[in-house]
Amino acid sequence: MRQLFVNGAWVPSASGEGVDVVNPATEEVVDRVPAGAADDVAEAVSAARRAFPRWAATPPGERGALLSRAAELIEARARKIAEIIATDMGAPLGFALRTQTLMPAGVLKTFAGMAGRQAETTRVGNSLILREPVGVVAAITPWNYPLHQAVCKVGAALAAGCTVVLKPSEVAPLAAYALAEVLEEAGLPPGVFNLVSGHGRTVGEALAAHVDVDMVSFTGSTAAGRRVAALAGDTVKRVALELGGKSANVILPGADLETAVKAGVGQAYSNAGQTCSAWSRMLVHWDQYDEAVQMAVAFSRKYVVGDPFADDTRIGPLVSRIQRDRVVRYLNVGQEEGARLVAGGTEPVHERGYYVEPAVFAGVAPGMTIEQEEIFGPVLSIVPFGAVDEAVSIANGTPYGLAGAVWARDEEQAVAVARRLRTGQVAINGGRFNPLAPFGGYGQSGVGRELGEAGFDEFLEIKSLQM
Ligand code: NAD
Repeated sequence: MRQLFVNGAWVPSASGEGVDVVNPATEEVVDRVPAGAADDVAEAVSAARRAFPRWAATPPGERGALLSRAAELIEARARKIAEIIATDMGAPLGFALRTQTLMPAGVLKTFAGMAGRQAETTRVGNSLILREPVGVVAAITPWNYPLHQAVCKVGAALAAGCTVVLKPSEVAPLAAYALAEVLEEAGLPPGVFNLVSGHGRTVGEALAAHVDVDMVSFTGSTAAGRRVAALAGDTVKRVALELGGKSANVILPGADLETAVKAGVGQAYSNAGQTCSAWSRMLVHWDQYDEAVQMAVAFSRKYVVGDPFADDTRIGPLVSRIQRDRVVRYLNVGQEEGARLVAGGTEPVHERGYYVEPAVFAGVAPGMTIEQEEIFGPVLSIVPFGAVDEAVSIANGTPYGLAGAVWARDEEQAVAVARRLRTGQVAINGGRFNPLAPFGGYGQSGVGRELGEAGFDEFLEIKSLQM
């Protein structure tokens, strides 16, 4: 069994209990991490509190240098970390390396470079405006991009001068252990970064409720986010929430249909569809609907489902049996409500492992369960529309608003429609994901932004001195 990282040392959990880490491709237990207890949270928060004044007073350049070193350590052992991620959450190795490991290393570098923002001052009339670190931050993260989501919070918070207690998902906690190791090796002072693994109900709730935590930054499901925000409300903590999504890929007449459908299928299936910003709904005009469905089916057949370590695999297993069963349930509900499953199915793909075939639903109407709820698997719903106004209203017609895409004849038309979407990010005619751009949600997709300067500033308090 691994140990918790508290106050600069590896220590056992007060609970003495553990959580098995399961490889979703083989269904075998590959590791075991402590199931932390409220007492562990108390120790870790107390260490973070004690470390805070010195870390906050450390020159930003020094903080940045330590974090750059940590980023270089991630790069130096990227292959090993990618293997860990492929093993505990099932991402294909190439994707685990590029997107799940090297991208967060890059993000950590950008936050290291931003550390100086914290010390910037501005003058307004007779006031001097200061930017101070918010204090002790609890970071609670999910399993789908386990290193990236940890770095989005931990990197920004540490660079800003906050101290941190990280609670990774109990489903895929190993990348967080790799992060703790590199931060330790980089030479972070004791207590500045702490890792307490375990369950949401115990460790997560204890962190959200702890009076000495100044901010809780949470990424995960909307249901758990709601609970975290309610607990944090008692002590009036700052709360940042990155929650679920049901993003729309709007393909307008005049767009390059084949390119848009191909990219849309690829984006929806990325990370086996276990991506909060997945374009899980494809909106296509009636005139092009049948053609788009045929194309989507043809593209979906090209996605090889299999062992994350095999070269030709594009879709690995879902992260857990629970997640696989959930996706299969949605495949059944979609058909019961009258949508047509034109690719994929509910039959097991391999004898072992939590695999599902990539699926396409046609004949999806606004309001159907599969059109409204986040499925978090490789399931694409194609929804027809008649006029642009209708497309906008369907795109905006869920409680979520995290991401999306618009494809049109030209950029100007696409941007005009993108401006009408109530969502945090929109890709214009295939615009690439930019890890420096603010990321976050409207509506029930969350509160606050991660990444870029906006993601850094989340971890600052603003003070004004009247002179
Ligand atoms: P989850 O909500 O089950 O768990 C997320 C984290 O919260 C885990 O660490 C978990 O242990 C903890 N947690 C669970 N219940 C808790 C509670 N009552 N109190 C405190 N902590 C609790 O989510 P998941 O299944 O790990 O991840 C999938 C979800 O995350 C999806 O809904 C997805 O859309 C969302 N997500 C959002 C973003 C984003 O940036 N918006 C990114 C990735 C994932």
